Amino acid sequence: MDQLNNYADNRLIRGCINCDGPADTRDHIPSKCLLEQPYPENLPVIGCCDTCNQNFSKDEQYLVCLLESVLCGSTDPEKIRRPSVARIMKNLPALRQRIEDSRTEVDGQIAFVPETKRIYNVMLKLARGHAAFELSQPCRTKPDHYWFGTLSSLSQESRETFDSAHFQQVLGEVGARNMQRLMVIQMTQLSESGEQQNVGMVVNDWVDVQEDRYRYIAIDDIGVVIIRIVIAECFACEVAWEV
Ligand SMILES: [Zn+2]
Repeated sequence: MDQLNNYADNRLIRGCINCDGPADTRDHIPSKCLLEQPYPENLPVIGCCDTCNQNFSKDEQYLVCLLESVLCGSTDPEKIRRPSVARIMKNLPALRQRIEDSRTEVDGQIAFVPETKRIYNVMLKLARGHAAFELSQPCRTKPDHYWFGTLSSLSQESRETFDSAHFQQVLGEVGARNMQRLMVIQMTQLSESGEQQNVGMVVNDWVDVQEDRYRYIAIDDIGVVIIRIVIAECFACEVAWEV
C-alpha cells in the first residue's frame, strides 16, 4: 500500500480505537488474518488496548473460519482453501465444532447461521480503524448504520452504488490520509443550453489492500462518515456515522 503520512490533528485518535482507554498495543487494519502472505507493505496500524485486542482476536478467528467455511461449503480443514485458516480449524477443534453446529441447509444448499454479534464486533473495529487512519475521524460511538451481507445479495443498482468511487462534495479533515488519495478529474458535461463544459470533480476511490482479498473505501462527506469493505470479493459491509 502507499505509505501516506497523516498531517491532520490527531489528538482525538490517540487512545484505543474502540474504548478510548490507553493504547497498549497496535493493531493492523485490516487484521493480517484477513489477508494472505506475502502481506502488503505499510499496512495501516491503529492504537488498541490489550483487552479489546484479545476480544477482537477471538472474533476475528471466528470470522475468517466462518467465511472460509461458507466459501468452501465445509468446516473440514482438508477442504478449506486458505492454508492459514485450515491451520486455525485444525488447531482449534472447539471453534470448528461451533461453526459445524451452525451448519444448516437452505434450498438444498449448505449454509451457516452466523453469530452476528461477533461479525459486528470485527466489522465495527475495521470500520473504526479505517475512519481513524484514513479520515482522522474517531468514530467511537455506535454507528448510525450498519450492514453486512454478500455482494450477490445486492440488487444491481445497489451493487453499482456500493462499488462505485465517491464524488466528493465537501473536503474533509485537512491533511488526513484520505485527502491525499483524492484525485481531481475533468469531466465533460452538457450545460442546460447544450454546450459542452469541463468540470473538475474530486474523486475518492476504493483502496485495494490485497487483490481479491480485501478492499475498502473511506468517505467523509456532508456530515457523514461511510466505510465500505469487501472481503474475498464476496462479503461486504457498510458502516456509517453522522458526524
Ligand atoms: Zn480498548
